[in-house]
Amino acid sequence: MKEITDVDEIIKELVTGRWFPRSANPAASSNYPGLNYKCGCGAAHPLISSDFIMIGTPVKFVFICEKNYMTGVRVKGMFRQKCIELWTCTHDLYLKAAEKVNEG
Ligand SMILES: [Zn+2]
Repeated sequence: MKEITDVDEIIKELVTGRWFPRSANPAASSNYPGLNYKCGCGAAHPLISSDFIMIGTPVKFVFICEKNYMTGVRVKGMFRQKCIELWTCTHDLYLKAAEKVNEG
């Protein structure tokens, strides 16, 4: 999993990864019982009870945990799913990136 620590790098990832805000698909659900992802904070969190703020296709989520780590996760597999952790960054870095994008 890539650890993103640079504002420009997270902006690039959000664009090239074709991420969308969760509100783009209100039906999106991380209801995968028994499936955990490895978070940037070092712990593993269950998908089913994790909050996510962004989604992508085919099945991708950006989860955010209590420790303010954001982790991009791809769920792969039709019958037996597994998680592929793509990248992680802190929520602070994301907010800085959002600010920069909004400023143009
Ligand atoms: Zn975490």
